[in-house]
Amino acid sequence: MSDPKFGLAGIMGWPVAHSRSPTLHNYWIKKYGLLGAYVQLPVAPGQLEVALPGLAALGFRGCNITIPHKVDALKLVHELDPVARRMGAINTIVVQPDGSLKGFNNDGFGYIQSLLDAKPDWRADAGPVTVLGAGGAARAVVLSLAERGAKAIRLLNRTLDKAQALADEFGGPVRALPWEDRHDALEGAALLVNTTNQGMHGNPALDLDLRKLPVQALVSDVIYVPQETPLLAAARLRGNPTVNGLGMLLNQARPAFHAWFGVMPEITPELRRAIVATL
Ligand code: NAP
Repeated sequence: MSDPKFGLAGIMGWPVAHSRSPTLHNYWIKKYGLLGAYVQLPVAPGQLEVALPGLAALGFRGCNITIPHKVDALKLVHELDPVARRMGAINTIVVQPDGSLKGFNNDGFGYIQSLLDAKPDWRADAGPVTVLGAGGAARAVVLSLAERGAKAIRLLNRTLDKAQALADEFGGPVRALPWEDRHDALEGAALLVNTTNQGMHGNPALDLDLRKLPVQALVSDVIYVPQETPLLAAARLRGNPTVNGLGMLLNQARPAFHAWFGVMPEITPELRRAIVATL
């Protein structure tokens, strides 16, 4: 049973030293005058089965789960939120009053909220959506856009089979297209999302010709290092509104903090500055 006054939570992964989550959650603990701490929980591959059941005994209210444990943790919790089940991965665990573990995935919430923060009148059904990439980030983006009412999602990935597998799994508005078609797949789009790692610090820029993209289309990149990827810079220069991945990172943390500490925290300019300083 966790201490009713002192809240303990953390980030479980391998490695975790680079994670911004401690900075985020400890900022909120201080800002809201709470007693508690958010700590690093470095758990090596193969040790998750031992570490997770220990959470309740150690007095934790829960933890975030990151690479490489996000999928393996699914099998180790007692209860799964339906969104996490559909996502096929967990990023948050909440220790229930009886000590059992419930798994959640807030990445999709974080993504949608980041678009709404940038453009409060944004709507998923405003027009076709083009999503590039079919990895872990794409799962959260595609599922949350579909649940939010997107009518057509054009999904393109370097490895077509992976995009097709996602389209088969999620069905509905999601259609997989070959990577070679990515330039044409921008025609008439209301939203373009990059979920590949292309444009991330240390990687080459995404190879994409924006000519067919309407200038009103919102261009979103889930990458946040650098804050402005070559894709976002090119989109901004031709007049498109843009959103980077920082809002997704910050917003996914809010429901977890609420579950552990009972306060739905705000993303203040000061917090943004503190996180940007770590990038
Ligand atoms: P992942 O599962 O490894 O997926 C990587 C994706 O990039 C795959 O679709 C892969 O295509 C594609 N890719 C890799 N090299 C490529 C290339 N040379 N050309 C075209 N596509 C290429 O990784 P992830 O976890 O989804 O992360 C992807 C990005 O999202 C990372 O930059 C990560 O930092 C960011 N991210 C941000 C947040 C946030 O909160 N803002 C959250 C999660 C992730 P193949 O399938 O063909 O390999």
